[in-house]
Amino acid sequence: MKTIIEPFRIKAVEPIHMTTREERIEKLKAVNYNLFALKSRDVIIDLLTDSGTGAMSAEQWAAIMRGDESYAGSPSFSRFEAAVRNLMPFEHIIPTHQGRAAEAILFSLLGGVGKNIPSNTHFDTTRGNIEAGGALAHDLVIEEGKDPTNLHPFKGNMNLEKLEAYLTEHGDSVPCVMLTITNNAGGGQPVSLENIQAVAKIAKAFGRPFIIDGCRFAENAYFIKQREDGQGDRSIVDIVRDCFACADGMTMSAKKDGFANIGGWLALNDGDLAELARAKLIQTEGFPTYGGLAGRDLDAIAQGLTEIVDEDYLRYRIRTNEYIIEGLDALGIPVVKPAGGHAVFIDARAWLKDIPPLEYPGQAVAVALYEIGGIRSCEIGTVMFGRQPDGSEIPAAMDLVRLAIPRRTYTQSHADYIVEAFGELAANVDNLRGYRISKEPKLMRHFTCAFEPL
Ligand SMILES: *Cc1c(COP(=O)(O)O)cnc(C)c1O
Repeated sequence: MKTIIEPFRIKAVEPIHMTTREERIEKLKAVNYNLFALKSRDVIIDLLTDSGTGAMSAEQWAAIMRGDESYAGSPSFSRFEAAVRNLMPFEHIIPTHQGRAAEAILFSLLGGVGKNIPSNTHFDTTRGNIEAGGALAHDLVIEEGKDPTNLHPFKGNMNLEKLEAYLTEHGDSVPCVMLTITNNAGGGQPVSLENIQAVAKIAKAFGRPFIIDGCRFAENAYFIKQREDGQGDRSIVDIVRDCFACADGMTMSAKKDGFANIGGWLALNDGDLAELARAKLIQTEGFPTYGGLAGRDLDAIAQGLTEIVDEDYLRYRIRTNEYIIEGLDALGIPVVKPAGGHAVFIDARAWLKDIPPLEYPGQAVAVALYEIGGIRSCEIGTVMFGRQPDGSEIPAAMDLVRLAIPRRTYTQSHADYIVEAFGELAANVDNLRGYRISKEPKLMRHFTCAFEPL
């Protein structure tokens, strides 16, 4: 069969509140054109993030009922620990309430003034946690990973020559080598198994621990199976195990490939470091057998980890992104290619050539998409990154609009609807205008700033 169906039936549904275009025009005015300020009830298809927005399975909801809320030694923790270790063979598995809590603990121990930490591309919370302690975060992704049109199969790969030079130059000031799979900030692009193992080898040669930010490990493994020589006949579980067997630790957000609405963990092999991490955990998150989570959350993650590695699910997931990209491509809309694991990215700067970066072409697309179809996306460009610490404003490297796809939440007709809305947008693209920011806070302005149409 050629049709790739959603490999699930729907047992519980969440109604979508439909709105008219006139209503949406009013809502946009009321929130000063900042989509973060919309009420989710007023959104028809919400593609703001894939984090914690997925649909849990019947087995996960059953696991929630099995959750044991004992303060210490809960069987929920044992099930969680076993499920993680089945995929990622680390000695010490430390639950946290989210990925960023694992990062905060790790970098409170490894970071600090004078330290330098490389990655392919640090995710923004990782960078934030590194920089908060005074260390510096550096991105060493391959050049192909920075070109939205380059069709390299593993655009998340680390530049190995740069990594070696970096480790030589910075010596003892490098406490660990990080690698983000898939490379979220670089468009959800995968890292090959060969590259993961090569990074591990280099880190080892320099005597540095190798830590994987594994938030989208299953999507990454599926890309390895699809695209890497010699991997096509292997199971996703075997590929995942290989990815982590060569690492010394990991940070994880279970809100991504944990299939859960909340949760995360820090895993380490080094017993001394793990002891310090657990002490920090008790101080900031909770006792080591629950971290910042309820017992039921641990059980939901344990079950989720058995479902996320299902190849039929991963095929449907990755195909959804490709399907939307093919639709946008046919409309002549510039998109980041090849499709990433968790999102579709539109290159708004390339598309809206008449709107200069400082008039926010990405915001213009995001607002128009909501007005036309009630679809909420996210500008990742000059609104998000343009304001500099010295108060000046410069264009970001790219002006992208991200359509993040929640897991198991939407169907093919939702994808068709998204493409149709873009068709309407493309037909009227010459009428789009830019925006100015009329009010903004000092930091992280994109969440709360007010816009005015030009
Ligand atoms: C989401 C994410 C994080 C942070 O996880 P939270 O659960 O949101 O705190 C870290 N790294 C990557 C790559 C992520 O996508």
